[in-house]
Amino acid sequence: MIDLHCHSHFSDGLHSPEALATLASQQSLRVLALTDHDSIEGWAEMARFTAAQGIQFIPGIEFSTRWKKHDIHILGLRLQSCADLLAALEIQQARRKERALQIGDLLAQIGIQDAYQACCARDSASQIGRLHYARLLVERGLVQDQQSAFTRYLGRGKPAYVPTDWIGVDEAVAVIRAAGGVPVVAHPLKYGLTRTKLIELLKFFKEAGGMGMEVVSGIMQSHEIMAMATMARQLDLLASSGSDFHGKGLSRLSLGCQPPLPSGCKPVWQLWDIEQQGSV
Ligand code: AMP
Ligand code: MN
Ligand code: MN
Ligand code: MN
Repeated sequence: MIDLHCHSHFSDGLHSPEALATLASQQSLRVLALTDHDSIEGWAEMARFTAAQGIQFIPGIEFSTRWKKHDIHILGLRLQSCADLLAALEIQQARRKERALQIGDLLAQIGIQDAYQACCARDSASQIGRLHYARLLVERGLVQDQQSAFTRYLGRGKPAYVPTDWIGVDEAVAVIRAAGGVPVVAHPLKYGLTRTKLIELLKFFKEAGGMGMEVVSGIMQSHEIMAMATMARQLDLLASSGSDFHGKGLSRLSLGCQPPLPSGCKPVWQLWDIEQQGSV
């Protein structure tokens, strides 16, 4: 099995790279990418611990980007650190920090005090994102679950939503290509785009040098997977597959449990030196 999308505690995942590598080994994964949000801090540990488990490690990233008024996530797979990548990460991290403080201020305005400080004290993560705030709001009993934290406080248009000037989709694609990586549109069905808009996004992405899209991402229905497979084929994009795993116990999702890619897809890992054995 192959999993090309997951998060460690260096962004908003719960586990260390070591714990992820152990879990990956328990699930008999052959290949695992770490794709933290706007961060490559987990790469070194992940390389070490996957090697110890005999798992092939794919260094990755999940960039937050803007396209029109939408927040779009662009994965970079099998990239190498370079000056362009480090410069883009510095910009994104500064915006994340500024946004985290603004979210804390907005929450304070509606009577939720010291949220930023509480997130920093609880999470050793070097970045505080919306999922950290969502966990805090659940812990404080203000919402029942993380999803409600987004629908009531943190999602677009809600009281603690901060529109952020992320880099553009085309800029993320250029940086990933400069770093020798493969740009992939993450979870295409999670943006609330109409079919027409999604195709427009994918065409823009491809013209900018984009190469693939997630056909299988987290928990999807089989008709959704088929629709994404058809779209990838029609637009001649490579197909990727990832769990978007953030931690044990958060949902019934685990590392590397995705259903196989439909036939007719061109798997993104065909670009790499990976044996075509087993499922996926
Ligand atoms: P951020 O990158 O800090 O804006 O946080 C977005 C992250 O929050 C996503 O990567 C998911 O891990 C998580 N998340 C969970 N539910 C939602 C939701 N309904 N809307 C947006 N993000 C969500
Ligand atoms: Mn996340
Ligand atoms: Mn995402
Ligand atoms: Mn993700």
